[in-house]
Amino acid sequence: MKVAVVGLGIAGLSICARLALSGHDVIGLDQFEPMHQRGSSHGDTRIMRLTPGEGETYVELARRAAPLWRTWEGLAGQPFIQWTGGLMAGPSGSPFVTSCQRLSRGPAALLRGDAIHPLTRGAIAMPREWDVFRQEDCGVIAADAVRAFLLRQAPRWGARLVHGKRVTAPIEGLTLQIGDDRAAFDAVIVAAGAWGGALLPEFAGRLAVKRRVVAWFQSSEPRILPVLCVDNEDGVYGMPAPRGLYKLGLHAAGGATSPDDVREPDGRDAEALAEHARLLLPKHDPRPVRMARCLYTVTPDEHFLIAPAQTQERVLLFSACSGHGFKYAPVFGQLAQEWLEGVPSPELLAFGLSGRAGATRLGAPKA
Ligand SMILES: Cc1cc2nc3c(=O)[nH]c(=O)nc-3n(C[C@H](O)[C@H](O)[C@H](O)COP(=O)(O)OP(=O)(O)OC[C@H]3O[C@@H](n4cnc5c(N)ncnc54)[C@H](O)[C@@H]3O)c2cc1C
Repeated sequence: MKVAVVGLGIAGLSICARLALSGHDVIGLDQFEPMHQRGSSHGDTRIMRLTPGEGETYVELARRAAPLWRTWEGLAGQPFIQWTGGLMAGPSGSPFVTSCQRLSRGPAALLRGDAIHPLTRGAIAMPREWDVFRQEDCGVIAADAVRAFLLRQAPRWGARLVHGKRVTAPIEGLTLQIGDDRAAFDAVIVAAGAWGGALLPEFAGRLAVKRRVVAWFQSSEPRILPVLCVDNEDGVYGMPAPRGLYKLGLHAAGGATSPDDVREPDGRDAEALAEHARLLLPKHDPRPVRMARCLYTVTPDEHFLIAPAQTQERVLLFSACSGHGFKYAPVFGQLAQEWLEGVPSPELLAFGLSGRAGATRLGAPKA
């Protein structure tokens, strides 16, 4: 089949690679240059969790992703994931922490927050009354290295990747206006991140675009620390980053934005993140050494939205959104292939419009 993939973030790249490998005639299109910093996929690192507390559907996705990550690492000749372990934390009774414990195999008990300081030799601190679940199957993904790999690998498998060409919004069928050219396809997959609502307006009301800022902190004693996901009001998350830094982000804090005009990080962002650094990272300087902005596309229930357009069933919205999609990247190509070839898995159906009834199996997402 002749397939257009609109958007070459991590989702679009994975889809192009997989569909081309499976013999489809694939063209991937992006409005910006390769490795650009304006969507949701850029940056040095992302958190990997193999037993995500968000629910069984995500655990299944992560299990599907695990061997595919190893395949990608083998092809690239480099590791993409550094397994650091993780601390899933929150105020006593946190449904997220309880869910992490329930979904993990084995009898591991919850820790109290004040156990973390000695456990991490003083590097991480938490309030005494928090519940903490230690998850060994967590780590850090070298996000930009993965994007760079897919930009090399997808063309080797036969995908044509075209950068610097914007597909005109809205998409109204299987013929796309691409810059000055028009081209017809058998199927169109819209993996356009924060621009998805402009390209397919029927979904716009379900795709809120939010500005997010992450910050890197320097420690007086740099060493590899576990990743953190905190089920508090701001949804703090953290992970070790290159050059001995530790990166913090706020899953739940940050206002609405246009994807074409995102405010640069400022002093208010630094202070909001420093507040959490002071609490959680006692050996780190709470003044960030650098900050970056990123886009979240957030659905009302914060779960992925992968659904055909009602106006044209061969056009698929593929929104691996709400700030927690990167860890499943290798499966995105598989999900797109299932849709294209008419053999949907339960995971794919769970992210459709009607399949959201299955949302009882899904909890509050984290990074
Ligand atoms: C700050 C931050 C931290 C995160 N942390 C984690 C984490 O720790 N763990 C985790 O698993 N996930 C995390 N995520 C989520 C993960 O990064 C995203 O789910 C993922 O990157 C989404 O990728 P995407 O390809 O859907 O979107 P994008 O990367 O935004 O790609 C969309 C692409 O579409 C292109 N495009 C849009 N419109 C058009 C058009 N009209 N024509 C041509 N091209 C177009 C854009 O230029 C863009 O390149 C985080 C996200 C952010 C922002």
